[in-house]
Amino acid sequence: MPAAQRRAVQALLELAPVVDELGHRFADAGHEIALVGGPVRDILLGRGSKDLDFTTSAHPDVIERLLSGWADHVWDIGKAFGTIGSRKGEWVLEVTTYRSETYDPTSRKPEVSYGDSLEGDLARRDFAMNAMAVRLPSRQFVDPHGGMEDVAHQRIRTPGTPEDSFSDDPLRMMRAARFAAQLGFTPDPAVVTAMTAMADRITIVSAERVRDELEKLICADHPRIGLDLLVSTGLAEHVLPELPALRLMKDEHHRHKDVYEHSLTVLDQAIDLESRLSVETPDFVVRFAALIHDIGKPKTLKFEGARKVTFHHHDVVGAKLARKRMKALRFSNEQIEQVSKLIELHLRFHGYGDGEWTDSAVRRYVRDAGDQLERLHILTRADCTTRNRRKADSLRAAYDDLETRIERLQEQEELDALRPDLDGNQIMQILAIGPGREVGEAYKFLMELRLDQGPLGEDRAREELLNWWSQRS
Ligand code: ATP
Ligand code: MG
Repeated sequence: MPAAQRRAVQALLELAPVVDELGHRFADAGHEIALVGGPVRDILLGRGSKDLDFTTSAHPDVIERLLSGWADHVWDIGKAFGTIGSRKGEWVLEVTTYRSETYDPTSRKPEVSYGDSLEGDLARRDFAMNAMAVRLPSRQFVDPHGGMEDVAHQRIRTPGTPEDSFSDDPLRMMRAARFAAQLGFTPDPAVVTAMTAMADRITIVSAERVRDELEKLICADHPRIGLDLLVSTGLAEHVLPELPALRLMKDEHHRHKDVYEHSLTVLDQAIDLESRLSVETPDFVVRFAALIHDIGKPKTLKFEGARKVTFHHHDVVGAKLARKRMKALRFSNEQIEQVSKLIELHLRFHGYGDGEWTDSAVRRYVRDAGDQLERLHILTRADCTTRNRRKADSLRAAYDDLETRIERLQEQEELDALRPDLDGNQIMQILAIGPGREVGEAYKFLMELRLDQGPLGEDRAREELLNWWSQRS
């Protein structure tokens, strides 16, 4: 093993004494165990993670027994698939029995049967860079398929022929695009050829598995790379056909913009703005909305006269298409609602002009966006891809202006909505008095208290009120 890699492996093992401990624990019980897959690849890339995957000769019941009494917490991830999860301190460790899968090319899920060697387990993995292992406790580096070299050359290759691999599990084609997006690696030409030839095989894979990979791809550092790969190989035609449809709208004669290229740029710009969100990032919802915000355009395209092209109601049509696609891909109802609302509202700002909206229009914008307002700000700002600097600057300034007005209105309205903790009826009841000047005074007293101290709650307000009343009389 080259010195640099040896140092990297060494570094991980020092970082995680748990890895050595686990190795000894399994070896003492007479079982093989190795660190495997993603974490080994990531060490070579100099990326650390708290998630560690292991593969072992031990069967799930034994794994469970060996982990219990050592880890802080042990759970069953899928005993049927041979995987037991555990947590030890800050580390999350997943241990899986050696596999040698047998595939039925027409079935949606790989059938699992246990294997008996590390090499056999590695041979059935998706890519050479994911088929490396470090045996424990010996720390012997195992790389039968040239994964280390692939990492060095930033290359995605399958251990065997890509045709065999993708026919065993077509999801691996999606995974190639996902890893390209995450790592910025380039799939081997043979991998691209097989993806292109076999793209339609993805249709036998369950929607949930496809969705998981698509979501990871969108949330990666370089989604554009992965998306371009999905489109150029024809995979997108099956998993997200609305995306390549945008490309078909490129039409030199009518001089309208390439909506596909525009959409990828909006996605890039949304990613640049993402840190403004108060939710955790990467944020799938704002990214996906940015990518597909114009999918209503092909359906609504109309030529008006020789040069003019319109897309009336592409916001509403797009929201509907998004809903349908996301449902087919089994996204959660929450994600579906959020993305489709953003698409439906992405054009609203264009009526804003130079700040012509009334306060009422601003309020309606806020109300309609609801809890998606932050994301709508990002989508709308990102949706400006004009090369005309003056135009871009003026749009940005107009949106700044809108955001300032929203803030001002919100502050104003929060103050306006402020009420004391008790209303007039309650005051009269508590003080046993009828309507009159005192009620107004009491109300004012409670309002001052509310402004000074924030909400008091009814009980304390009642106490303060009675106190004030007795001192007053
Ligand atoms: P990350 O967890 O960062 O997304 P990873 O490489 O750990 O990346 P996982 O999807 O967690 O990816 O899979 C763990 C390992 O299992 C992979 O590294 C790979 O070796 C193997 N693997 C996962 N899915 C498949 C598959 N469909 N076919 C073959 N091997 C797979
Ligand atoms: Mg993983």
